[in-house]
Amino acid sequence: MSRIDRRKLSDDYEVVDVLGRGGFSIVRKGIRKSSIREKNQNQVAIKTLRRLGGYTPPGPLQTYNGHKKRLPSWNQISISDALLTNEIVVMRRIVEKVSPHTNVINLYDVYEEGDGVHLVLELCSGGELFDRIIAQERYSEFEASVVVQQIASGLAALHQANIVHRDLKPENCLFLDSSARSPLKIMDFGLSSVEDHTDPIIALFGSIDYVSPEALSRHEVSAASDMWSLGVILYILLSGCPPFTASTNREKQQRILALLKHPWVIGDSAKEELMDSEVVTKLQRFNARRKLRAAAIASVLSSKVALRTKKLKSLLGSNDLSTEEIENLRLHFKRICANGENATLSEFEE
Ligand code: ATP
Repeated sequence: MSRIDRRKLSDDYEVVDVLGRGGFSIVRKGIRKSSIREKNQNQVAIKTLRRLGGYTPPGPLQTYNGHKKRLPSWNQISISDALLTNEIVVMRRIVEKVSPHTNVINLYDVYEEGDGVHLVLELCSGGELFDRIIAQERYSEFEASVVVQQIASGLAALHQANIVHRDLKPENCLFLDSSARSPLKIMDFGLSSVEDHTDPIIALFGSIDYVSPEALSRHEVSAASDMWSLGVILYILLSGCPPFTASTNREKQQRILALLKHPWVIGDSAKEELMDSEVVTKLQRFNARRKLRAAAIASVLSSKVALRTKKLKSLLGSNDLSTEEIENLRLHFKRICANGENATLSEFEE
């Protein structure tokens, strides 16, 4: 990506169709002029954000996403300086620390032109996450897992670069192309944060369905809040409906905050029919393994000190147990013994 410079977008790109409109932007398809000459038609998405310029009059009546709306024309949409700067700062950090990443949108260029900024982005022509999924009659849990894997992989790279997305929702996940194995890209970093840069007021904007309780109550947004949003996406993928529903946003907000009163948690929506017996079999196996391992550890702890550390590490499958952690484990087992739950390894093996 090049620096913000004084070149004009129209010097380098031919702007064609409108791809979409956001609350603060218009996104259009562009073709790199040099690629037209080279005949390889290098296509990009151009997101245009305009600085706030006072009152935005309603535009002409148009059909958009199946609804008739008075949409402002592209030169009427405007954005505050804080939001505009934020998106650029985050995109720059992505270019420096994350790109190229299969699951995060790439930024190619930035043009600043008087009253606004054009971000030249990787073009995603495969459509939004849920649109593609509902276009199929049925889908498998495996497909849902691929979606989660891709978003989680993009988030891991962002979090590693200290970027928190803060507005993760299905509309902000686009497929790169229409092929069956197309990568899914996380995009729209308008509300994201980079360390302490972001103005706290920006945290107020996220879409409520996917917003974590800590973001709603204290405006504290961290990598964990993105994982909450991913959890909500997974819930919808597996059940077909969002975990928190209400007729108003205010009510929905209260439900998200009152997680302990969720209908499933209090038993109102949890099914009473017995679960598949396979679940109990799996749980029995898991429980037996857990107890066997615990007993094995207990028996090792009673062995000679010199042998303990090595054996414990191999039993726990970990090489980085500290002496303090081992001591804690020892105390834990001592408590179990005091509660009369002690058992030797041989008893559990029977
Ligand atoms: P929001 O109101 O959701 O915050 P925004 O102003 O930040 O929106 P975006 O969500 O980034 O704008 O983009 C608006 C729409 O433009 C998207 O829903 C999508 O349909 C389209 N779009 C954005 N980026 C791309 C892209 N790279 N490739 C294709 N289409 C895109």
